[in-house]
Amino acid sequence: MKITGDQNLIKKMNKTIVLDEVVNHKMISRAEISEKTGLNKGTVSTLVNELLENHLVYEAGPGKSSGGRKPVMLLFNKQAGYAIGIDLGVNYILSMITDLSGNIIVQQKSSLHSLSTDDVIFTLIESIHNLIQKAPKSSYGIIGIGIGVPGIVNDKGTILHAPNLGWRDVQLKQILFEEFKVPIVIDNEANAGALGEKEYGIGKNIKNIIYISAGIGIGTGMILTNEIYRGYSGYAGELGHMTIEASGEQCSCGNTGCWELYASEKALLNQNQSFSHDEHKLQQYVQQASQGDQQVIEKFNKVGTYLGIGVSNIINTFNPELIIVGGRLSTAEPWMKDTLLSTVEKRALTYHRQTTKIIFSDLGTKSAALGAASLAISSFFAEHEELI
Ligand SMILES: [Zn+2]
Repeated sequence: MKITGDQNLIKKMNKTIVLDEVVNHKMISRAEISEKTGLNKGTVSTLVNELLENHLVYEAGPGKSSGGRKPVMLLFNKQAGYAIGIDLGVNYILSMITDLSGNIIVQQKSSLHSLSTDDVIFTLIESIHNLIQKAPKSSYGIIGIGIGVPGIVNDKGTILHAPNLGWRDVQLKQILFEEFKVPIVIDNEANAGALGEKEYGIGKNIKNIIYISAGIGIGTGMILTNEIYRGYSGYAGELGHMTIEASGEQCSCGNTGCWELYASEKALLNQNQSFSHDEHKLQQYVQQASQGDQQVIEKFNKVGTYLGIGVSNIINTFNPELIIVGGRLSTAEPWMKDTLLSTVEKRALTYHRQTTKIIFSDLGTKSAALGAASLAISSFFAEHEELI
């Protein structure tokens, strides 16, 4: 019998459904997959055999019997390959290896002492080589590298503009592909952070999430009805540059009075210093605040108030289910949360704020790197149609 394109498509869709069932359950039998998906047992069996051949699924010992022969249980082989996820910050690079379920296997951090493109890319390449050496052996090896960057990225993986790094038109995807010859995915770090929270953090099973990445600047990743909202040209989410002070300070983007000038690390640091020298300043402030230093606590309180002003605008605009405050600044939660929440209480529209939860990230500073790894994993499955 000749297999038509349609039949191939249906088979592929069914195989994806079967794989999803295995991924979403710790263990599952062929009969249970058939029951849950409505696919007949023969089809499930054929598709599972192909997934077994491709090492994406493996069989474990017999499960619980409901009377007859004990069924063989199937598990997702999350160690079939490994992804690299990177958060390229303004003064650090956080990089990690994860398995195909987003479990962190190795994690490392490098400080950046210069923001020149050559220096940062040198450090980035060095960190990736270092991780690759530490990756466990697997069927598919390193399946891809995902990177979250603090700037606007086009669909070719070129960083068009990263104001806080002072970069324009850096062909990062091409540079890294030439070095590593594995698939490279580049996205804005706030989008990556939003995905990290949705896949592996407090955003699981929530459809409308606004993720605020508060670090040296502010980026936002918007998940609207389960998808990252990218806008017409793909550059949506620059809420850090919404104007909140009409005659405010000059921002590196060209505007004045941008939100990030008042509600990010920028508001805490000496504006005349290069940000790259301030990597430890935030940690120092957090330590001082935890020792009861009133001056520092007031600084954080004020940043919390300004965060609340932006969050109120976001609540009124998007009516999201969840707002997650992440990024390095989220480590100062104890001294920002109250002023943030009371500002929202005062400023956001009543009906809107009643239904919105505001939570600080529980992945801490790892959301963007984890989300970047998840981008590499999704693109691996999307590009290897023969496997699934
Ligand atoms: Zn700006």
